[in-house]
Amino acid sequence: MNDPGPRPEAGALLAWYDRNRRTLPWRAAPGARAEPYRVWLSEIMLQQTTVAAVGPYFRAFVARWPRVDDLAAAPLDDLLHAWQGLGYYARARNLHRCARVVAGELGGRFPADEAALRRLPGIGAYTAAAIAAIAFDLPAVVVDGNVERVMARLFALDGPRATIKPALRARAAALTPDRRPGDYAQGVMDLGATVCAPRAPACDRCPWAGACRGRMLGIAETLPRRAARARRPERHGVVFWARRGDGAVLLRRRAENGLLGGMMEFPSTPWREAPWTLDEARAHAPIEARWRPLDGAVRHVFTHFALTLSVALSVDEVPARDGSDGVWRRPEDFAALALPTVMKKVARLALNPSEG
Ligand code: SF4
Repeated sequence: MNDPGPRPEAGALLAWYDRNRRTLPWRAAPGARAEPYRVWLSEIMLQQTTVAAVGPYFRAFVARWPRVDDLAAAPLDDLLHAWQGLGYYARARNLHRCARVVAGELGGRFPADEAALRRLPGIGAYTAAAIAAIAFDLPAVVVDGNVERVMARLFALDGPRATIKPALRARAAALTPDRRPGDYAQGVMDLGATVCAPRAPACDRCPWAGACRGRMLGIAETLPRRAARARRPERHGVVFWARRGDGAVLLRRRAENGLLGGMMEFPSTPWREAPWTLDEARAHAPIEARWRPLDGAVRHVFTHFALTLSVALSVDEVPARDGSDGVWRRPEDFAALALPTVMKKVARLALNPSEG
């Protein structure tokens, strides 16, 4: 076996962190402990989203709901509305659920225990470890994509990510110190975000350069090996744009569970693999009306599939009556609704057909 050479030390990383830590809206000042509520909120927002995108949302949330009890007392619709643009609305619904459990059952305090944190709604293994480390300074092993990349390079672990995951975790665990584990966790994340970047790592600025096997072997940038990207499936749907004489349009709320759960939408057919003909789609129309297809279509890419929605307009104005299964809103009032991005695109197409 080759001589493994010098080993990376947590102390070197902590010293680097003290000089180079990022200033982030949810972070405590150097030497201070971050509030669990702020750590939890930021970590849920950061799932699948970038630090730059989350900043304004985080500030708006803590200004409006400064404590977990305030968030728990907020109507879900207010929260969903404030969440618009962050995507993955199941997270927002879990955020609300979790706030209610913490406020209602735990006296407004997040537990200082990784296993107990994990039992809360919407908190998975990574988030529980991040809160335990950052908010409570517990030596939890925090492993996100940044940490995985740094570990793969430091120890030159080659192979598909799924195969080497346990080894990446074991290395991360072995390096996690008992002293300042919260700063250490944030330090590794910062290193991955700013120095050990996916492309062109800046090894000359890295506190672990002398111990990095990937750098010494000249393969750092190729690690971790990228998986071949699976093709994203395509889905199709037809949206029904039902207009009333006063200009109001029919909307309904999506089921609580599942994609875009609890958000508002314009009624549509199910989203399936094969494109729809208008004749087929009619069977799913929310009300009796004559429908005509609009030119153009809306395209939206979700994590697990790409969606193409065409739009059918009601030809005659629908009589003014309440839908049994929906609400009528005028376009100027859409801004107050929790409308996901894909439905905003539908509205743009239906209201300005020439843009399609
Ligand atoms: Fe990443 Fe380079 Fe540091 Fe290795 S030396 S951990 S590749 S930045």
